[in-house]
Amino acid sequence: METQQEPCKLPRNRRRVILFPLPFQGHINPMLQLGSILYSEGFSITIIHTTLNSPNSCNYPHFEFCSFSDDGFSETYQPSKVADDIPALLLSLNAKCVVPFRDCLANKLMSNSQESKDSFACLITDAAWFIAHSVANDFRLPTIVLLTDSIAASLSYAAFPILREKGYLPIQGIIWNSFEDLEQVELTTVHQQYYLSIPVFPIGPFHKYFPAYSSSLLSQDQSSISWLDRQAPRSVIYVSFGSIAAINEIEFLEIAWGLANSRVPFLWVVRPGLGRGAEWLEPLPKGFLEMVDGRGYIVKWAPQQQVLAHPAVGCFWTHSGWNSTMESICEGIPMICQPYFADQMVNSRYVSHVWRVGLHLEGKLEREGIERAIRRVMVEADGQGMRERAMYLKEKVDICLQRGGSSYQSLGRLTDHILSL
Ligand code: UDP
Repeated sequence: METQQEPCKLPRNRRRVILFPLPFQGHINPMLQLGSILYSEGFSITIIHTTLNSPNSCNYPHFEFCSFSDDGFSETYQPSKVADDIPALLLSLNAKCVVPFRDCLANKLMSNSQESKDSFACLITDAAWFIAHSVANDFRLPTIVLLTDSIAASLSYAAFPILREKGYLPIQGIIWNSFEDLEQVELTTVHQQYYLSIPVFPIGPFHKYFPAYSSSLLSQDQSSISWLDRQAPRSVIYVSFGSIAAINEIEFLEIAWGLANSRVPFLWVVRPGLGRGAEWLEPLPKGFLEMVDGRGYIVKWAPQQQVLAHPAVGCFWTHSGWNSTMESICEGIPMICQPYFADQMVNSRYVSHVWRVGLHLEGKLEREGIERAIRRVMVEADGQGMRERAMYLKEKVDICLQRGGSSYQSLGRLTDHILSL
């Protein structure tokens, strides 16, 4: 059910929702998709954002954007270092952004009351903005949290009481980019054990309402699609490790040789900064691309959702970010999982052991193991089983978004909840 941006429904009594995304690709995409979903439900949308990785407002002329004047973060920010210590990065980002966020919110609320236009319903903040709830509370603005992880990954954090004690776990309404049929058991656990009195809204997968290209921070290389157009159905392995993960030169070479030796056509996203210390493709052996003889294609950033929906793609070798995992499930594409940090470990385990729509590439990253994994998913009967189960989940996605489906109903409950605030 992919819908394009339509004129919104009747304005919901001019209720405006403020969205506050965390400034990283895997968080910006779902938050802006959520903005589009709520806009199409009749809400006015304001996005408050950092100067770091600011979204392209031109792609959202129907939203209002409020940028921090300075987040004190952009100048020292090094994209290649993000993965080194994510908790420290988040704590520092939160600490530096309290004042600019408060100023931005105060300005917004004040200018609005002077002009007496829309009334503010609530703030929807990324869960990793620990500061947002107390700031919004000072202005008596209700808060809802967007969790950009799976429900299972969120539960794995909830198992650590210290995170709750320190205020790092959400205590307000929660929106999830997941759907009931995928995580039914986890959702029951959420209701029974952790968030008894908190309303939860699994309304995903968000990108099936609106594609993510408009929130891409890097330009997506469309030549990926013309290259895929020339490949046989289900013949290509698509390889991408998302926007943050970084690998060393040895791993880079093992991946390259594993792909070459598998003799399976590949589309590989080598984001600048993926290889630590390298600008782009310098670690590749001389003549590598000539040697694979047109069987391989490398881009800096791909239109990933279009790629995964392309009939030539048969497998996704992924770092198991939650957006990538959902995007793959939605197209019925089996995965080879190579997680790096945070929720990626849980996502990978669920792909390989719970939904059984892929395999977890464990142990040292070596070309022989890579070659075996690719053949197992692309060629062997095992892979066929993964593909069938992935296609089954794809059907579930389509059903949950239809009228009366679980995500459709959750979205209805979410809009009622926002209107009640
Ligand atoms: N993405 C993309 N082009 C690429 C690689 C990734 O547009 O070449 C998008 C992808 O579709 C997804 C997001 O970037 O929506 C990555 O989010 P994810 O949660 O998978 O991983 P993260 O980047 O947060 O590690």
